[in-house]
Amino acid sequence: MALVLYLPFYAHAWGFYGHQKINYYAVFLLPPEMLVFFKPQIDYLAVHSVDPDKRRYLLEQEGPRHYIDLDHYGPAPYVSLPRDWQTAVAACSMDSLVKYGIGPWWIQVMLERLTKAFMVKDPEQILKMAAELGHYVADLHVPLHACSNHNGQLTGQHGIHGFWESRVPELLAEKEWDFIIGPARYYRDPLSLIWKRVLQSAAAADTVLRIEKLLRAQFSSDQVYAYEERNGKLTRQFSSAYTVAYDQLLNGMIERRMRASVEAVASFWLTAWINAGQPPLRSLVRHPLGGDALLSMQQLEAAYKNSPIKGREHD
Ligand SMILES: [Zn+2]
Repeated sequence: MALVLYLPFYAHAWGFYGHQKINYYAVFLLPPEMLVFFKPQIDYLAVHSVDPDKRRYLLEQEGPRHYIDLDHYGPAPYVSLPRDWQTAVAACSMDSLVKYGIGPWWIQVMLERLTKAFMVKDPEQILKMAAELGHYVADLHVPLHACSNHNGQLTGQHGIHGFWESRVPELLAEKEWDFIIGPARYYRDPLSLIWKRVLQSAAAADTVLRIEKLLRAQFSSDQVYAYEERNGKLTRQFSSAYTVAYDQLLNGMIERRMRASVEAVASFWLTAWINAGQPPLRSLVRHPLGGDALLSMQQLEAAYKNSPIKGREHD
């Protein structure tokens, strides 16, 4: 029977688990002036890290913000693709850019929105934009978010997307990986950091796929999958032995990408705050959601629970 039937949780980049952990750990990299506001809101930042994935069930335009198929632009370093948005639109057309993903540029939009929220000292907007910026930044650290063979659909490796970004971290992150990471850094040129990280992702995509293929040849199919407990339910999924073996063959890649995500998320939060003139955050108070904000949150949840995904599926 097709694997997809058994893996309903694996539809989201880094999985919900990974995104929540990344935003959570990122808070601890912030300077005290930011920590004073961010730390008490750490649960909000973790929970709402996954809103952009939920929005993929609501809005058609949402999907392409989470990835970029760099291999569409020829071999690395993809010289046919201008890094600057306006130049890219002129060279490739907006429709084509949207078709193959606009992840790197969307991060710029979100960074500007967060900077503005800091400037006007709007606590709700600061948290919303910070939580969601964290999502997009983390997504582009995932190799299969920079590659058209994003779920192994072109190479008979269906399900590898969730395997790499959900199953492996869920099994190993808390038990074995290290999330003590140096302080957030200010980036004068955030766009070049985004491109650096997404090019690293694209370069790693080949290894992600090749290693799994190699490993598959060493395991019988009843060793690849197993019924194991997940969220309190017995679920057929990649077996623990297969998951651990994959992680070992990748030689720490997933841990490194997750750590790099944490560092980048915190650094982008810090960069927005500094660019906004380092407004004091101590006195900001978050009020419970009301009015339009509450309504749009309810719409998001309803779409996520009741509607099919619009655009690209990951499993
Ligand atoms: Zn995503």
